[in-house]
Amino acid sequence: MVDLDELVRENVKRLTPYSCARDDFKGNTGIFMDANENPYGNLNRYPDPYQKELKTAISKVKGIEEEKIFLGNGSDEIIDLSFRVFCNPGVDKVLTFAPTYGMYAVSASVNDIEVIKIPLNGNFQLDTNKAGALFMDKKLKLIFICSPNNPTSNSMNYEDGDYIISKFNGIVVIDEAYIDFSEKPSFIKLVNKYSNLIVMQTFSKAFGLAAVRVGMAFSNPEIVKYFNKLKPPYNISTINQKAALRKLGQLDQYKNQVFLIKKERERLSAILSEMNIVEKVYPSDANFLLVKVKNADYIYNELVNRNIIIRNRSKMIDNCIRITIGKKSENDRLISELKSISI
Ligand code: PMP
Repeated sequence: MVDLDELVRENVKRLTPYSCARDDFKGNTGIFMDANENPYGNLNRYPDPYQKELKTAISKVKGIEEEKIFLGNGSDEIIDLSFRVFCNPGVDKVLTFAPTYGMYAVSASVNDIEVIKIPLNGNFQLDTNKAGALFMDKKLKLIFICSPNNPTSNSMNYEDGDYIISKFNGIVVIDEAYIDFSEKPSFIKLVNKYSNLIVMQTFSKAFGLAAVRVGMAFSNPEIVKYFNKLKPPYNISTINQKAALRKLGQLDQYKNQVFLIKKERERLSAILSEMNIVEKVYPSDANFLLVKVKNADYIYNELVNRNIIIRNRSKMIDNCIRITIGKKSENDRLISELKSISI
């Protein structure tokens, strides 16, 4: 069992959070003369700082208690808060498995935290031996695991994730931004078993609300309390809370879009595999494909010239490009443009 009190930064434990008007009075009705708002208009009131209505809806959809949910201004805010709650700047360390989502390292730098990068193994899986050898380091406070991983597109083995969470005496953050596109199980169930686990999901991908900036963290209530202590009081606007809430009322649309994206992913993958400029299409559990090509820089530039924007990931993985699955018509355009490129 991990001792959370030992892991949380001393200044965070001592901190008295900002107390907003909505913290003092929690009712919904009355004449509000407490928050220096303008009495006129529709968006004149500050948002619910703890997003109660949205959390109730998420709790039902995800099957997890409200007190175990934290909502951030995108998952990116949750990544940053994880550093700020647990890592002392200039002292502590974080472990990531490379290549992976770039924000873990950026957020670490912003917070002056050293990043240890262990390469994923040949199958893009976690190297549990190398990771395990670092667990004794008291300065290692956080481990980020991205599953399905960006940019490799595969899920991490469940047993390896479970092993790391159970053996590590710090905090493990599992980033499941792409989980809805995967057949593999989510780690969310383990939140009830391990107090050192934070599972992140987002409204930006399968729910189609990247513009809205709502990220979810599922974790034990103690960690949720610390996140709430540090976050800006009104981190999610009323408009954004409503947009996310409305989406949860349209689950058929969400399911249909996930179905279409997965179907297109398999079609695109099969067609790309046959092309002679393509060396390998990696199996994907996400809404994108990692593709090894003959000359990634050349193909990237040729596609940009044809107004198709993909990501060149060859600095991370030799000659690899990352293609986000589009609508059928967009994927068809990509296919026909790729066919016109010769190397
Ligand atoms: N996690 C991963 C693995 C991502 O790839 C991204 C965005 N590309 C995010 C998190 C960011 O999510 P959000 O929009 O919720 O900040």
